[in-house]
Amino acid sequence: MITPKKSLGQNFLRDDNVARKIVQHLHLNPADIVLEIGPGSGMLTKYLVGKCRRLIGVEIDQRAVDLLRETVGEDMEILAQDIRTVNLREVGRESATPLRVVGNIPYYITSEILFWLFEHREVVQDATLMMQIEVARRLNAKPRTKEYGILSVASQFYAEPRLLFKVSPNSFFPPPEVESAVVNLVFKKTVPDCDRELFHIVVRSTFGKRRKTLRNGLKYLGIEEAKLDKLHFDLSRRPEELSVQDFVTLTQELSSWRIAVEDDRSLESKRD
Ligand code: SAM
Repeated sequence: MITPKKSLGQNFLRDDNVARKIVQHLHLNPADIVLEIGPGSGMLTKYLVGKCRRLIGVEIDQRAVDLLRETVGEDMEILAQDIRTVNLREVGRESATPLRVVGNIPYYITSEILFWLFEHREVVQDATLMMQIEVARRLNAKPRTKEYGILSVASQFYAEPRLLFKVSPNSFFPPPEVESAVVNLVFKKTVPDCDRELFHIVVRSTFGKRRKTLRNGLKYLGIEEAKLDKLHFDLSRRPEELSVQDFVTLTQELSSWRIAVEDDRSLESKRD
């Protein structure tokens, strides 16, 4: 038994039924390559062993790494490092099979883990993750709801998120202060065609001014009012009213405008 460290988000699962249920929802195929985030003392791991071709665990706590090496041994390849530093393209390199990611993740870095997964989406088939219920609800929230925000737009842009089931605090030791839920995200093979860097900037800057109109949020990007007037997009709307597709359209509008400006610049330099 490892003494839980709050700083590492260690709320260990103690309910075998929940661990079994998570693994059942994975519908593992013997050819799958599974990567577990934060296996800890191995509560979920023990139900994963023997059900896939390769099992990889990424764990930051050396005490847990030592324990896993004793208990799970050769059945799991352990990377003793911070999950945020793992390059999944390297991990799955020798195989054409996309990874299945699973984990009762440390809640203090939930958003970071999600954005790290979005970055690696082309090598990930899906991710089944335990997280706090408020965050789980945000992932598949619809426009015009209070949960709808940056995480909803990003998750639904890159994946199809689905809340599988809720988990009570009593299923963990120590019990977290919040309810939890298990979510499955199936990553899309193709995402809408737009400048993704600009897409993230637009989503972040407009939701940064959530109660304000898009026009207000976009002003902070340094775009002049006169230029905004030229967009074929109703900027009197608020970010929470926009669907993911609306954000894509707005990004496409802005990037075609950017290209037009760049063209003007190159024309000007040619004239000079
Ligand atoms: N899977 C175990 C279970 O269900 O009981 C442990 C879950 S506990 C909520 C989160 C685990 O993630 C802990 O083992 C913790 O040490 C590990 N962890 C925390 N931060 C991490 C990080 N940045 N990278 C990798 N593992 C991390």
